[in-house]
Amino acid sequence: MAPLLTFEEALREILSRVRPLSAEAVPLAAAAGRVLAEDARSGVDLPPFASSAMDGFAVRAEDTPGRLPVVERIAAGRPAPRALAAGEAMAIATGGVVPEGADAVVPVEHVVEDGDVIEVSGRAERGAHVRPRGGDLAAGDTVVQAGTLVRPSELGALGAAGAGDVACTRRPRAAVVTTGTELRRPGESLGPGQIFEANGVMLVAALASAGAVVTPPESAADDDADHRAALERGLESDVLVTSGGVSVGPHDLVRRVEADLGVEEVFWKVAVKPGKPISFGVRDRTLVFGLPGNPVSSLVCFELFVRPAVLALQRAREPGPAFAPGELAAAVRRNPERDEFLRARLRADGTRVLLEPLTGQESHMIARAAAADALVLAPRGEGELTAGTPVSYLPLG
Ligand code: AMP
Ligand code: MG
Repeated sequence: MAPLLTFEEALREILSRVRPLSAEAVPLAAAAGRVLAEDARSGVDLPPFASSAMDGFAVRAEDTPGRLPVVERIAAGRPAPRALAAGEAMAIATGGVVPEGADAVVPVEHVVEDGDVIEVSGRAERGAHVRPRGGDLAAGDTVVQAGTLVRPSELGALGAAGAGDVACTRRPRAAVVTTGTELRRPGESLGPGQIFEANGVMLVAALASAGAVVTPPESAADDDADHRAALERGLESDVLVTSGGVSVGPHDLVRRVEADLGVEEVFWKVAVKPGKPISFGVRDRTLVFGLPGNPVSSLVCFELFVRPAVLALQRAREPGPAFAPGELAAAVRRNPERDEFLRARLRADGTRVLLEPLTGQESHMIARAAAADALVLAPRGEGELTAGTPVSYLPLG
């Protein structure tokens, strides 16, 4: 039997099949959480003119110290009508245009005002408290690079640069199909042998958090016709995510029905725990993920494989998964064949990040897993990882 794909190999297979989506103009106010499809360039110098960093008085540095008449009062948005001449001062507000002729601002706290005259006792440095034109960015420079996921700070920068619209990659359309005759919707009541359906809401929310536009989840019973109908609809999307029905049981129909519908399987099974039976395929441009039914397996496989794909579809420069360094707070036994992703609580201890594996690491234990802040990678191998071992972890949003 061929060895299973490793986590890295499987991720590479997925990302190599991603064909990034097209770009569209998005009003700046709607761009949070979107990925820039092109470099956004500034139309103006930032700041657009030399401006005052303080409330104070614009002067010529060489006129200080000294007694200077205040010949104008400059508010933000209202430049002085004339240049500053030798021996003069102009009152200026933070953000006001530093007048021609002035080369320093003396803060109001550092002068003694006597009607329309100021007494400056200290020596002002040239350029003091003046924000030079273009000091942050020059017109034509890139404000935010293509491939950046737009956060509030980037929105601020784009706004300052005057961007009305920005080019973002279209949001992927995603569909979720959960499978299993035993599943009942949350809010209904359970009959014998039935359980509540947990993956639908979870996967829809996870996809949305990765930037996708998601249709409400569909549930398919374990029969061919039900699977076919739901999967056929799901395949209209850019991303189809199913849960359950990808193992080797007689009721595991997802892969077979998908093959009938023209899905070309790229891989089935990866050496990870939980989530080993995950499948991945493509039909035309649609990426098709078959996540295992156990909710923790679905959650982990989503973070390892689906979120990076959804971000890559949007041309994210770093689709992840973005592991960070930490330390195990307790010993864990390794799995000899599979990389294990343990659910853990994250605790800061000074500059160290400690990861406390939760009790109850089985793949059906979603209630236990809900308390996790992180997935800790315990690489496959023999023996145990002792407390204090440096490890990589994936933060959970
Ligand atoms: P399967 O992958 O279909 O063999 O399912 C594995 C386990 O996960 C079984 O115990 C299922 O009942 C359970 N399961 C499958 N789908 C869901 C779901 N959407 N919500 C909760 N549990 C599920
Ligand atoms: Mg099933």
